[in-house]
Amino acid sequence: MAGVKLTNVRKSFGPLEVIKDVSLEVPKGEFGVFVGPSGCGKSTLLRMIAGLEDTTGGRIEIGGRDVTTVEPAKRGVAMVFQSYALYPHLSVAENMAFSLRLSRAPKHEREDKVREAARILQLTDHLDKKPSALSGGQRQRVAIGRAIVREPEVFLFDEPLSNLDAELRVQMRLELTRLHRQIGATMIYVTHDQVEAMTLADDIYVLKGGHVMQSGRPLTLYDDPDNRFVAGFIGSPA
Ligand code: ADP
Ligand code: MG
Repeated sequence: MAGVKLTNVRKSFGPLEVIKDVSLEVPKGEFGVFVGPSGCGKSTLLRMIAGLEDTTGGRIEIGGRDVTTVEPAKRGVAMVFQSYALYPHLSVAENMAFSLRLSRAPKHEREDKVREAARILQLTDHLDKKPSALSGGQRQRVAIGRAIVREPEVFLFDEPLSNLDAELRVQMRLELTRLHRQIGATMIYVTHDQVEAMTLADDIYVLKGGHVMQSGRPLTLYDDPDNRFVAGFIGSPA
């Protein structure tokens, strides 16, 4: 089954057609990476899946359910952004619990979820600290923790590592792979970084100018690109 399925999805901002006609499927439980140059519409596409932008046309399904007009909170998605503003006056535990404030679950259940997320992200020893006492990588993990506690069907990542230095990015890539293995949810990750795409993806979707140029396994795209754009972008010199 498709974790996320887009059918003829389009998006215009006034006269500007940003997403032209995108149909794709990210299989349930897979790590899908949308890669493409800056301005090609990656964030817009992700925001439409999250419900933060409406669609100009087409259909969006999550876990087989048509969510095209469903409000963001009811789509079963959680998004992690590049700029992960944590609440400076709240502890790590409170920051993670904050995204459950609208949940009707009893307090002890919410606390259990925070503890479990902290365990997965190796933040257990930092739960009482304020964000200012954490490293950049730890702060980014708290931001991911805020998504985990909501137990979404689909995780959406919009260039979450682009503010980190190169060494930390390598480490966080490994952590994201481990996280995906552990949680098993569908994940869609947006980046303009080919190395990130190659190392994280089960399947890569190469976007250009609001179209999917090619999708498939990283090595298939690398070894057998459909066109010069994919060849140039994914790495093997054309
Ligand atoms: P990417 O994430 O791939 O860099 P975006 O999805 O952010 O690309 O943007 C794609 C295009 O859509 C850009 O030309 C951008 O200027 C335009 N765009 C994005 N959001 C809006 C908006 N709210 N209003 C008008 N234009 C927008
Ligand atoms: Mg973007």
